[in-house]
Amino acid sequence: MAMRVMVGVKRVIDYAVRVRVKSDRTGVVTDNVKHSMNPFDEIAVEEAVRLKEKKAASEIVAVSCGPTQAQEVLRTALAMGADKAIHVEVPAKEYENLSPIHVANIIAKLAKEEKIDLVILGKQAIDDDCNQTGQMVAALLNWPQATFASEVAPENGGLKVTREIDGGLEVVKVKLPAVVTTDLRLNQPRYATLPNIMKAKKKPIDKKTPADLGVDVAPRQEIVSVEEPPVRKAGSKVESVEDLVKKLKEAGRI
Ligand code: AMP
Repeated sequence: MAMRVMVGVKRVIDYAVRVRVKSDRTGVVTDNVKHSMNPFDEIAVEEAVRLKEKKAASEIVAVSCGPTQAQEVLRTALAMGADKAIHVEVPAKEYENLSPIHVANIIAKLAKEEKIDLVILGKQAIDDDCNQTGQMVAALLNWPQATFASEVAPENGGLKVTREIDGGLEVVKVKLPAVVTTDLRLNQPRYATLPNIMKAKKKPIDKKTPADLGVDVAPRQEIVSVEEPPVRKAGSKVESVEDLVKKLKEAGRI
């Protein structure tokens, strides 16, 4: 039986942008800054599309939670090969305080509603670096999880997943329904072609609110401050190895 797959796609500041902290230290500057799909989510969409190409998946549903602009990444997901998109609208002000538990609750609800067999999320969003949502979705649904996947292979009605672990690889088998989170080496996401981008513009995007799904998005935390990383101090040049050793000795480093 082919799987119904749900992928989570988050709109984040593009990985190549140098992020700046707002002068009042409440967050980072997002106005007029290039945004893109979270890179690990591109990998999630790609994996879902590959499963569909192998006839292991029947339908791909992309979900994004966020303000109106979240639709941009849903269009990209549709252009890459997702069949259907759901935008869970969270106004900008509320979105500032949306945490992984809120997103996980939303995705868990939608996964049930859409009779999903496999949820594929990124291992982490590159803006908040939380690395929590996939694990929470699995816990909320009481489904098995295979995180940090570098290979996903359908096997005997379940999945064999290779996981990237410290210094090596771990292979696990999970039964469906399940949650998988993607690591960098899982695949190389395709670029959406122009004809597919045009076609994606015509595909409908379903709109929902957290309230429609019965999910409370009241903030659970308050951001106290956001700081720039400390500026690296300039080093000094030495003339010779002897000089270097002398200086290190003087500084009590050797
Ligand atoms: P995080 O736990 O915040 O590091 O995010 C892990 C993964 O959860 C991301 O790579 C996405 O697949 C998914 N995710 C997080 N936030 C959102 C969001 N606002 N909309 C859709 N998916 C999300």
